[in-house]
Amino acid sequence: MKNKNFRRSLIDISVHAGTSVIGAVLIYFFYKNPFYILSFFIGSIFIDLDHFIDYFLYYGFRFNLRKFVGVEYLASGKVYMFIHSWEILIILLSVSLIFRLDYLFFFSIGMSIHLLIDTFHEIRPLFYSIFFRMHKKFNAHVLCPNSVARLSK
Ligand SMILES: [Zn+2]
Repeated sequence: MKNKNFRRSLIDISVHAGTSVIGAVLIYFFYKNPFYILSFFIGSIFIDLDHFIDYFLYYGFRFNLRKFVGVEYLASGKVYMFIHSWEILIILLSVSLIFRLDYLFFFSIGMSIHLLIDTFHEIRPLFYSIFFRMHKKFNAHVLCPNSVARLSK
């Protein structure tokens, strides 16, 4: 396997799945509410649907799992990942607390754990700021040079 991102993505997916299960067990233990668990799950996993947008913007609707998991769409030179954003998370979390929306709250908790894991994985804290990515014109070479470099290693 040439593309080193493939293995990293698999590790990333496994870590997200593992922490989601742990979180689900904890929520079950404290609240015994399956809809809280579901909201948490959706927040922690489905945020990665983001990557489909970046993929389809580059490849169109020809889907290839290997290219997708290998993050090969970074060859476009752009990284958008609109939902992977601390700003969006802060808005969702605030709305959930102000209006006491339990499901949105657990969704936000799932999303924040996901973003924390991704931040440790990427080792570039500002990367998950949508304003920072906008400021850098979504340029993948500037924002995530290591991931771009791994495409050809
Ligand atoms: Zn992610």
